[in-house]
Amino acid sequence: MKRNTLLTLCCAALLLTAGCKKTMENPFFAAWEGSWGTPYEIPDFQKIKTEHYMPAFEKAMQMQKENIDAIVNNPDAPTFENTVEAYEYSGERLGEVASVFFNLSECENNEAMEAVAEQVTPLLAAHGDDIALNEKLFQRIKTVYEQYYSDNADPTVALPELNAEQLRLLEETYKGFVRGGANVPADKQERFRELNSQIASLTLRFAQNVLKATNAYKKVLDDSTEVTLSLPSWEPFMQTCPDRALREELWHAYTDRCKGGDYDNLGIIDTLVNLRLERANILGFTTHAGYVLDDCLAKTPEAVFGCLMDIWPHALNLAKQERDIYQKMLAADEPGAKLQPWDWRYYSEKYRMEKYALNDDEVRPYFSLDNVRQGAFNVATKLYGITFKENPALPTYDKEAHAYEVIDGGEVIGILYMDFHPRESKRSGAWMTEFRGQKVDREGNNVIPIIQVVCNFTKPTADKPSLLNFDESETLFHEFGHALHGLLSKCHYPSLAGTNVPRDFVELPSQIMENWCRHPQVMKEYAKHYQTGESIPDALIEKIAAAQTYGQGFITTELLAASLLDMYYHSITEPQQIDPLKFETDALNHIGLIPEIISRYKSPYFQHVFTTGYDAGYYSYTWTAILDHDAFAAFVESGDLFNPELAKKFRHILESGNTIDPMTMYRDFRGQDPTVDALLKRKGMK
Ligand SMILES: [Zn+2]
Repeated sequence: MKRNTLLTLCCAALLLTAGCKKTMENPFFAAWEGSWGTPYEIPDFQKIKTEHYMPAFEKAMQMQKENIDAIVNNPDAPTFENTVEAYEYSGERLGEVASVFFNLSECENNEAMEAVAEQVTPLLAAHGDDIALNEKLFQRIKTVYEQYYSDNADPTVALPELNAEQLRLLEETYKGFVRGGANVPADKQERFRELNSQIASLTLRFAQNVLKATNAYKKVLDDSTEVTLSLPSWEPFMQTCPDRALREELWHAYTDRCKGGDYDNLGIIDTLVNLRLERANILGFTTHAGYVLDDCLAKTPEAVFGCLMDIWPHALNLAKQERDIYQKMLAADEPGAKLQPWDWRYYSEKYRMEKYALNDDEVRPYFSLDNVRQGAFNVATKLYGITFKENPALPTYDKEAHAYEVIDGGEVIGILYMDFHPRESKRSGAWMTEFRGQKVDREGNNVIPIIQVVCNFTKPTADKPSLLNFDESETLFHEFGHALHGLLSKCHYPSLAGTNVPRDFVELPSQIMENWCRHPQVMKEYAKHYQTGESIPDALIEKIAAAQTYGQGFITTELLAASLLDMYYHSITEPQQIDPLKFETDALNHIGLIPEIISRYKSPYFQHVFTTGYDAGYYSYTWTAILDHDAFAAFVESGDLFNPELAKKFRHILESGNTIDPMTMYRDFRGQDPTVDALLKRKGMK
């Protein structure tokens, strides 16, 4: 019903403006015919209006279709160049419009953008399927693949020599088609397409429900301060509110989001999990997790369960010790009361303050947003020699998004946007994306990346700059680490460049940066009081360091619980009606989670696994934590946190994207396989 109305409105709008050429001028089309006319060919955000997206999407899809028709109708025998490489570049325009649209729909969302997203998502899914299931295209790619990779290849036929990156592209492209359904039998192809389209629409609705449910709630307290369900508002409230009933109320408001009501996600989860299973079955896998992990470093669900369960008992053990402390504190306040999840953050924070005399008010003045950002920049400068220069003349989509030129040896190698504060149009959380990835284009020109970092840090006020707590400082370093992965990319083919690595490797560049953020030597340099300019005192550094291991039982347990919950959903082998509330309870009881802790995200708002592509992938935060602690240990062991030789080797990982097998690169850097020792030590579990 809603969709029909929208389509009608869109068509009417097109008809109305069709007669007037001026208003129809689409900046995407102008750019494709020549240039954006901006520095570095940055998309001209000010010129792009919501009504430009649909025509741009449609035209870009048409262009890719024509490019692919040209490949499959080529009378010449398939070669790497006329098939694999031609295919690699076939969707350049579509990638451009999609990057701009989807990035802005995360941070400049509104109803019109949502309408476009709803309209275009199924079209993109169908377009993707048309390509993935294009039999002629796949046969040509397969022919080339077998020339280079099959044991039966005719050794007397002279083949053009391919370099390592080209061989990698060939292999990844072929595998991508197989994973996308190219080998799906003809009688199942229609159903396969339907599944992809339904899954795409459901994930989008899930995300929109979470955003709306989060924005729909507001609690005005007696002193007229406001608490919302965005984390920077909700979490400090839960940590400090002494009124237990009020905590319980806010707890339910947060954790009951999308559990029934106007923005219900329960039914979506049931359908989505079953559709994912059905799709995995069609592709020859017994579970969705099996299908997903086949393309990761972990390879199998067994390996993931094994890795998570190795750490689980240590984490749970520590969490139980924490619980016993908080239970005693609660009993002192309220004799006979039993600790509940809404008490945890409050007593955890209270104990932290008693035991470590460390609280946000003491810490924040040393972590002004400007100082932390500069600290992250300085680490990159010391490691890789690159520098960052703000350029207010560059196009921007919002006055709060600051643009930096990233300079290496006098040359601008990338553009970095940093967008730090909450807006109603912005989804919660923190992330890095690309408006344009690094690549060498078809004409052989190096195209520099345009990277975006988005966060939701407290806004500055008239008399105070934005002051971060220590977690937020780590978040900034984390996202900046992803940004470096995009910015330092030195690849040829776009699909192998930058952060396009297996997702259980993609968090290594980000998480390793947190190690520098928290190291006393580095902290001393960037953490300066925003009023006095004084470096953070040693005593406070020590307190922060001590506090770092505090609470690790809870943090690790809620993270592992969420990771295991994700794995259970995606390890079902039979279609079944899923009641997510019961499923979640059963799964968490099965692993012995204590009732005072819940999964880091409850199912109805677990966006990572139901919308943002971490399905059967939430474990990767733990997986990469093993890697990042092990990797940073190399610098520490060398006696130099900025050891030039190690930095050079690590930069090689950042530059190489997915052009080389990531584990091979990692072993080259570290000289050995990673171990869990550094991680367990840091968490105070060993
Ligand atoms: Zn990350």
